[in-house]
Amino acid sequence: MAKKAVTMDKLVALCKARGIIFPGSEIYGGMGNTWDYGPVGVEIKNNLKRAWWKRFVQESENSYGVDAAILMNARVWEASGHTASFSDPKMDCRNCKSRHRADNLIEAHSKGKVNPDLMSNEEMEAYINEHHVCCPVCGKCDWTPIRTFNLMFETSRGVTDESQNKIYLRPETAQGEFVNFLNVQRTTRAKVPFGIAQVGKAFRNEITPGNFIFRTIEFEQMEHQWFCKEGTDSEYYAQFKAQAWQFLLDLGFDAEHLRFHDHDKLAHYAKEACDIQYEFPMGWNELNGIHNRTDYDLSRHQEYSGKSLAYVDPVTQERYIPYVIEYSIGADRLMLAVLSEAYDEETLENGEVRTVMHFHPAIAAYKAAVLPLQKNLAEPAKAILAKLKKHFSVTYDDAGSIGKRYRRQDEIGTPYCLTIDFTTLEDGTVTVRDRDSMEQTRMTPEQAIAFLTEKCTF
Ligand code: ATP
Repeated sequence: MAKKAVTMDKLVALCKARGIIFPGSEIYGGMGNTWDYGPVGVEIKNNLKRAWWKRFVQESENSYGVDAAILMNARVWEASGHTASFSDPKMDCRNCKSRHRADNLIEAHSKGKVNPDLMSNEEMEAYINEHHVCCPVCGKCDWTPIRTFNLMFETSRGVTDESQNKIYLRPETAQGEFVNFLNVQRTTRAKVPFGIAQVGKAFRNEITPGNFIFRTIEFEQMEHQWFCKEGTDSEYYAQFKAQAWQFLLDLGFDAEHLRFHDHDKLAHYAKEACDIQYEFPMGWNELNGIHNRTDYDLSRHQEYSGKSLAYVDPVTQERYIPYVIEYSIGADRLMLAVLSEAYDEETLENGEVRTVMHFHPAIAAYKAAVLPLQKNLAEPAKAILAKLKKHFSVTYDDAGSIGKRYRRQDEIGTPYCLTIDFTTLEDGTVTVRDRDSMEQTRMTPEQAIAFLTEKCTF
């Protein structure tokens, strides 16, 4: 299928107009790159998180969830390496004072042909000077040298801000899974291999946030760590790559808009690493990551905490530190990809253009909209609405022509519209209009509930 004509501007405008996503702190002039999910957006995002949890926890044979604290002992970040090296190479434009990431400048300038991950800071500076890479804001080529900048947000514990009280907002959720490895293993009596999953907020003081909700300073991650024995790790790495890919196809992504990208430069502890990239409106970019992290994380926490994190095999009594396969996807980044993928503009037979979001019905904010054909049908319509609401999120609209109401529901991707008309008063049936085909079928409310249940299961 060809890529649709979606642009970031169209998405941002639609999201704002239809209560999907609003700019953060808007009445105060906003706060750069923070976004608030509105009534429709929060439902979609919750559905995405539920679908992910269902697939990777509920349907998994041996995976368990946690919800760890955002604020963790500062030693956690020393052990993980974030205090020392969670940084990006930043450069400031001396002319317009805007701040940029050197690696992003090189990637954009070379149109993705040069991989800055393989370069040192000196090499990046040399490339930028030799190739006259100029500031994307003002067009001048007058850069400060590269400086590194830790991305963790700091705060302090207690009533004084002495350095020993310094703590951080977590920059990733993964460490909450690692530090609870033995707690989960003991309480579930799980045998390796098993997984620990978490969905939660993470914070990064990104130098160049942007592209709507693609890169923000506060975001949600859905992470799954699979603990396995050395020697089985590569097989599980391949398995998680396949599962992560399948999850996206099942959400309705066209495989042509997705691709694997193997990392050329691996982190010193990683054995294998790749991303799945999606063709976002601004181009191909990382949607999620899959990493074979070896035994690095548990070994480091064992070293820094002084507590043994070894697993003892109940059959062989062998003691070892498991390897970890990490699968990590941003809920907001997935939301952006889902919005981009779903967006369509269709020319109807009468020449009108309708904007329609083709979400998987399980992901749509509302499974159905109840639309009384006329205002004096409100009473039977509301009775049907109340029945449906026991089962799903459903919305109600009695304002304007039926055509306009269908258009509004198409724009937020409501998969089915139930119209209440005068036949409803005679035989109790309603018409069920399909968002994609626009075909209508008559059924009773009970049949509609069974139909929606089947269609809206992920
Ligand atoms: P990037 O290269 O885009 O900065 P990353 O490699 O640092 O991402 P990870 O640390 O592997 O990303 O985080 C896992 C996932 O979390 C990413 O694949 C992405 O979906 C999401 N994510 C990371 N940073 C952000 C951010 N600033 N805003 C929104 N989502 C993010």
